[in-house]
Amino acid sequence: MKVARFHAPGDIRLEEAPEPSPGPGEVKIRVRNCSTCGTDVKIFKHGHHHIRPPRVMGHEIAGEVAELGEGVTGWAPGDRVQVIAAIPCGQCEECRRGHRTVCPNQESMGYHYDGGFAEYTIVPAKVLAVDGLNRIPDGVGFAEASVAEPLACVLNGQELARVGEGDDVVVMGAGPIGCLHVRLARSRGAARVFLVDLNAERLAMSAERVNPDAALTGADVVDQVLKLTNGRGADVVITAAASGAAQEQALQMAARQGRISFFGGLPKDNPVIACDSNLVHYRELTIVGANGSSPAHNARALDLIASGAVPVADLITHHLPLADVLEGIDIVSRGIAIKVTIEP
Ligand SMILES: [Zn+2]
Ligand SMILES: [Zn+2]
Repeated sequence: MKVARFHAPGDIRLEEAPEPSPGPGEVKIRVRNCSTCGTDVKIFKHGHHHIRPPRVMGHEIAGEVAELGEGVTGWAPGDRVQVIAAIPCGQCEECRRGHRTVCPNQESMGYHYDGGFAEYTIVPAKVLAVDGLNRIPDGVGFAEASVAEPLACVLNGQELARVGEGDDVVVMGAGPIGCLHVRLARSRGAARVFLVDLNAERLAMSAERVNPDAALTGADVVDQVLKLTNGRGADVVITAAASGAAQEQALQMAARQGRISFFGGLPKDNPVIACDSNLVHYRELTIVGANGSSPAHNARALDLIASGAVPVADLITHHLPLADVLEGIDIVSRGIAIKVTIEP
């Protein structure tokens, strides 16, 4: 079979590999869609401390069950499935307390295990042990189902930031994650959603699809948000961009009792921002992080897609064969697509 393997930063190779066979407790799937995201770009450029090369990349996986390993029950060849990316251990103190997104023993598809940029992949027993293999509801295509993983992360972020009825929400960053945030905030009853990006072209492309109440760009976005909210600020500000400046602006544009989600992480070598602690104190702000998603978030994300609450099909702007995976990663890195999916 064909696979795309990461060997070193800047070195992803399309290679022939033997078809894997499932060990005890594992499920082999025929990958139909594995979508790409900024994480794949980061891995391509810099590698990742959890990836020991060579490794088949790809973590937004949907496909069909091809073969069951010994002892696996409840699944049959042909079942349409979506696979979680982040695998909590299910055993540690955090997992026992239900904090599965921050399991310190977390492993990931495409990092610790071969991922979905391949015709076939193996779902590890650890995924099945935490209910991380989800049946794709009828009417949901494989490409849409592959977007359940990033949507699950977005869902986790909005739960932590308590996005709800009547909120004015600002989403900073108009990439695929920003688009999902706009759509999810609407489905949770947000009053108005404003989308912000420094890149006017990308902002226009995304705004055309997700239709925010306003699309904002420029150095004075804090003033623009204050003006749009009669000086009050936004109830929730979500930074879906690896930008410390955006995080600092988020603090400035939050309303009293506002919630700020530092959804996107910052570069490892530059993670410190300026935070006026008195702003947090007197305005009773809540700052939350977000680290991926749990298996339960993935299942609920699939339901949100299936019910039509969060449509994703029109956000997938590029469908590419596995042979074009490098082009796909390049398209993502240039910010000229919303969602790029690979169809091995
Ligand atoms: Zn991703
Ligand atoms: Zn754990």
